[in-house]
Amino acid sequence: MKKNIKSYNLDELKEEFIKLGEKPYRAEQVFKWIHQENVTSFNEMTNISLELREKLDKEFTMCIYNIIRKQESIDGTKKYLFDVLDGNAIETVLMEYKHGKSICVSSQIGCKMGCKFCASTGIEFVRSLTPGEIIEQVLAVQRDENIKISNLVFMGIGEPLDNYDNVMKAIQILNNPKGINMGARHISISTSGLVPKIYELADKDIQCTLSISLHATTDELRSALMPVNNAYNIEELMKACRYYIEKTNKRISFEYALAKDNNDNLEDAKRLVKLLKGMLCHVNLIPINKIENGKFTKSTNENILKFRDYLNDNGIVATVRRELGSDIDAACGQLRRKNL
Ligand code: SAH
Repeated sequence: MKKNIKSYNLDELKEEFIKLGEKPYRAEQVFKWIHQENVTSFNEMTNISLELREKLDKEFTMCIYNIIRKQESIDGTKKYLFDVLDGNAIETVLMEYKHGKSICVSSQIGCKMGCKFCASTGIEFVRSLTPGEIIEQVLAVQRDENIKISNLVFMGIGEPLDNYDNVMKAIQILNNPKGINMGARHISISTSGLVPKIYELADKDIQCTLSISLHATTDELRSALMPVNNAYNIEELMKACRYYIEKTNKRISFEYALAKDNNDNLEDAKRLVKLLKGMLCHVNLIPINKIENGKFTKSTNENILKFRDYLNDNGIVATVRRELGSDIDAACGQLRRKNL
């Protein structure tokens, strides 16, 4: 099988070129064609000899996604269903903010985590995406819209820390100034709470933002909502978060999806304050999004604001996340991997 050229960082690509008997600077030219010029075939790389272009075409694939479907929300959010070229499909979302364009990428085909409120649950886990398959989501959207994307969040389908090595590699490739040149500060990783990987990430000390999907303040409720809590409970998760903050001196963002009569009462807010008191953090409140057959409904607006105000009044910075794309099922937790 041909290798995906988008999975190579620049150093590795240079090594591949040396193996092919080519000069390393040629690898840099090709890297630029791929990540900056965003061409779709080796043939378009006009400063490369025809012979080398043919050689590359034999060795590598460019991994160019087909768009199976594109939907646009009334708020401008766009959702893509991509054919990842092996019979599978994934969703990717493009959002517009005042500060630029932000992409929400998938890290896996399906998800193993089994969170009860998420649409990615209940579809079979197929496999993790390779670095190149993560990168191609960015490049495919940039090509389609003829834009430059400034921010990226790993909040699509999958658990990014369950695909740790490929996600780290994708970030390294995204960062490269000779490529897409997206700074790590513009990248967020969201995790359901894979504790050992949070420690690993802390020790790696990259400048990404870490988001933790917390969603509950007692082990009983969190385990009922998120099976991962049976493996790593809230106390262990908080310990890992404190380590992360101490090590990186970076603020953690806690995501808390508010579901009516589930996790949205004052007692929950009080426990949340206790859990997070004194931590360098921010709470992102998400009015829970409805999923097909889901048993959760959004908290009332009044409750959402009460919850937020209680946190803010008690020293925890909390904001309510703007809902984008819910009319096209592109909001948090609504992504799937099939055209259903
Ligand atoms: N697996 C990672 C990233 C994917 S989900 C994680 O769990 O963090 C991105 C965010 O959407 C997570 O915070 C997730 O808990 C949240 N989410 C899932 N389903 C949701 C729903 N129905 N409404 C609101 N947020 C949801």
